[in-house]
Amino acid sequence: MPASRPDLALLPRPSRMSSLGGRLTLDRDTTVRALPGAEPAADLLRSLVGPAAGLPLAPSPEGRIVLALDEQLGGLGEEGYGLTVSPQALLLRAAHPTGLLRGVQTIRQLLPAEALSGGVRGPGSWELPCVEITDIPELPWRGSLLDVARHFRPMDYLLRYVDLLALHKLNTLHLHLTDDQGWRMPVDAYPRLTEQMVFGDGDGEIFLDFTYAIDVIAHELAHGLTQYTANLRYEGQSGALNESVSDVFGSLVKQYSLGQSAEQADWLIGAGLLAPRVSGDALRSMKAPGTAYDDDVLGKDPQPASMEEYVETEEDNGGVHINSGIPNRAFYLLATALGGNAWERAGQIWFDVLTGGELTATADFAEFARLTVAAAGDRFGERGEREAVLKAWSEVGVPTAE
Ligand SMILES: [Zn+2]
Repeated sequence: MPASRPDLALLPRPSRMSSLGGRLTLDRDTTVRALPGAEPAADLLRSLVGPAAGLPLAPSPEGRIVLALDEQLGGLGEEGYGLTVSPQALLLRAAHPTGLLRGVQTIRQLLPAEALSGGVRGPGSWELPCVEITDIPELPWRGSLLDVARHFRPMDYLLRYVDLLALHKLNTLHLHLTDDQGWRMPVDAYPRLTEQMVFGDGDGEIFLDFTYAIDVIAHELAHGLTQYTANLRYEGQSGALNESVSDVFGSLVKQYSLGQSAEQADWLIGAGLLAPRVSGDALRSMKAPGTAYDDDVLGKDPQPASMEEYVETEEDNGGVHINSGIPNRAFYLLATALGGNAWERAGQIWFDVLTGGELTATADFAEFARLTVAAAGDRFGERGEREAVLKAWSEVGVPTAE
């Protein structure tokens, strides 16, 4: 039995569409006749439908599928097309080659869903519903934005994404390529832009050279660790956790390099980065969030130290650099309660959670906190670590009970 689609569920809906009743069967013997100028559309049809449906759609002057350019259809504009499917034949016409390409996507959508899934061999034959369609897009610019500055996407994902845009007749891909999070756009004159980390050298007025601070460098490297482990989504509480984890490991790298215990560490992020004229010590304080700076030009450090002061905002991806103060302080409280080198126990617990596979990409503070309690128990057993973790979260107002 040939596979067929139950209804005319086309997206976007064509400007005019009427069902004619009956069906056109496509099988291995169905051939395609492409009139002059329509060859690219025939190639597209073959490459998109052929492999999945198992239809060769070979070219032939007697083809039952006819693709034609027709100057008389100028009224359809560049992207418009007319499609007629009868029990005997399929005729796709447009004034411009682009219109034929849009029509090919409609043919795809008229096929059963199995014909759209790549690499799946279909049944021997397929049915298209008989239909008359005239389609002109209402809006000339139909786009979708993909943010690859913050989240890397593999090439096959991008290609599939573009294929899905085309299937739904979106004609513009916005790639968000440069941001404070990174630079993804190669520039021939500056090949190393996409190969190495780039730190500003400061304006001398407010900020000094950002490479002065080892914790800031380690903070950025830790984003790489997060991205390839828990991949915490960069918005809201999961984004604040992403930022906080980077501050934690940034600070631990600094403490390790200086041989400082938790008591000796200053728990500042970016100490020494602020220019001498700025009233402040650093970019952030894990020990006392909200106190890192208070300056006429820079303003006041906006970080909260506990859930009571949690900042609801649309800015900064939902306050990822602001509310990170809360988990930052929980880590500081734990590390100083445990004493000794913070990277040995407190840092190990955080690392176990980040890399353990249970932390979800959209975790909120409470989920992260629960997992740190569990991780402390798993690694250190019924010693004081688990109690200290519970106490640290409780002091910043994050619940740890289910
Ligand atoms: Zn960051």
